Amino acid sequence: MSIVSLVDVVKTYPPASRGGRAVTAVDGVSLEIEAGDVLGIIGYSGAGKSTLVRLINALEPASSGTITVDGVDITGLRERELRRMRGGIGMIFQQFNLFASKTVHANIAYPLRLAGWSKPDIDARVGELLSFVGLADRGRAFPEQLSGGQKQRVGIARALATRPAILLADEATSALDPQTTHEVLDLLRRANAEQGVTIVVITHEMDVIQSIATKVAVMERGRVIEQGDVFEVFSAP
Ligand code: ADP
Ligand code: ADP
Repeated sequence: MSIVSLVDVVKTYPPASRGGRAVTAVDGVSLEIEAGDVLGIIGYSGAGKSTLVRLINALEPASSGTITVDGVDITGLRERELRRMRGGIGMIFQQFNLFASKTVHANIAYPLRLAGWSKPDIDARVGELLSFVGLADRGRAFPEQLSGGQKQRVGIARALATRPAILLADEATSALDPQTTHEVLDLLRRANAEQGVTIVVITHEMDVIQSIATKVAVMERGRVIEQGDVFEVFSAP
């Protein structure tokens, strides 16, 4: 079953200034993401990968085409329904996007507080997540006291907190060294295997695709030029 489905999706950004040019960042993309997949989206900088991800979690409206998430066409949803839909999608980022003024515990608790969880439920869930990401003793630390890899593990714990069906990772390992990248990818693989979360990994690094993805979509100038199982797309004809 497809958990995310895109049909003929186009995204054109309006000109930034008078006399500027409109940019078509996503140019007629059709893509099916199956529940439980680890999909890698690979392409050079400017290919349209981030825009594609922002369309999937409705941070940007599509110019045309249809986007279905978990069976719901999101192109016509109102803001309130969109917020609920986004609750089912976790995001992790290259620069981690943690709150510097909050402890690790409070960072992970944040989406749970937004979702209205009780304090005992939050504490129990955060404890579980800290163990899952191997930071059980770091709940009181602040982000600046952590290494890059630890910060990204906090980012993953926060993204998984509300048990989303989908995790979107935008260049999540691009700021990390190879060893730390390997550890973070390992964690994502475990989240997929143990919790069944569907993962979309955006990257410009082939290594990342080859180490974690089961499916791949190759983007170039706003288009998906190839998609399929990793071994099919990358095996020589
Ligand atoms: P990638 O993630 O593959 O680097 P992006 O989706 O960030 O690609 O960018 C695709 C194209 O869209 C680029 O030409 C970029 O300059 C343009 N673009 C991205 N975001 C915006 C925006 N908010 N406004 C205008 N143009 C944008
Ligand atoms: P903020 O004031 O920005 O909301 P806090 O750091 O004060 O963030 O923590 C938010 C919530 O998380 C509070 O209820 C706090 O008691 C709880 N909390 C923070 N760190 C821990 C921890 N290490 N163990 C248990 N609860 C914690």
